[in-house]
Amino acid sequence: MAKVARIPFIAGNWKMNLDHLQAIAFVQKLAWSLKDARHDFAATEVAVFPPFTDLRSVQTLISADKLDLKFGAQDVSEHESGAYTGEISAAFLKALDAAYVIIGHSERRTLHGEDDEKVAAKVAAAVKHGIVPVICVGETAEDLARYGPSAIPVQQLRGALSGIAGATDIVVAYEPVWAIGSGQAATPEQAEQVCAALREVVAAVLGDEVAAATRILYGGSVKASNIASFMRQSNVDGALVGGASLDIGEFASIAQFLKHVGT
Ligand code: PEP
Repeated sequence: MAKVARIPFIAGNWKMNLDHLQAIAFVQKLAWSLKDARHDFAATEVAVFPPFTDLRSVQTLISADKLDLKFGAQDVSEHESGAYTGEISAAFLKALDAAYVIIGHSERRTLHGEDDEKVAAKVAAAVKHGIVPVICVGETAEDLARYGPSAIPVQQLRGALSGIAGATDIVVAYEPVWAIGSGQAATPEQAEQVCAALREVVAAVLGDEVAAATRILYGGSVKASNIASFMRQSNVDGALVGGASLDIGEFASIAQFLKHVGT
């Protein structure tokens, strides 16, 4: 597969934390922190994924202050509009200028019963509206013991891509369920092995060119102290960060991984 330069992507999934007022203060401070550190946004893209109720405030702040940060939502409906109480459509997210949406996070899969079919429908809805899906896949500890690290993520990604033939812009996040919020990250070697297998899936479904350009992230207990070890892997193009994305200094330091990747 042709080697192309992929811009590293550091994404912060806030989950159900920070209301819209806290979000404004947080994003301002994050932007200052990165500015102080002379962060090069062209070299490493940084995005936040706040709760739905924060999105308008975050969008207004980013646009008014011309911040280089990107933002996205944590979920999306597979439907266009209509009688779907509590749901948010991709069209609504697009109207807010959301660049990304996380789809298929393990908490959605386990706590909200989202299966591969539902994930595929949501991915198709996002792509249809020009929002880049951040497609999350990952195995549980039981899956790992039974099938090894790649089988389940590969199967989940095949499912997720089943309705988007012709798509060119997606992000994939490999997030072993046992590593999320546990403090026990995967080894960089395991992350590399699975991310390489996921790139093969993208190549098989969307073609070599798209696969070579697709950012594949690792997620699961990423911190400033371990990000460099993941970023040294050739198939790991960034991180989806949960807990540590709520600490401005820590998240800014993860985004600044280039400063410590050689250490
Ligand atoms: C996540 O929830 O996507 C995640 C990776 O969480 P954490 O970084 O806290 O493990």
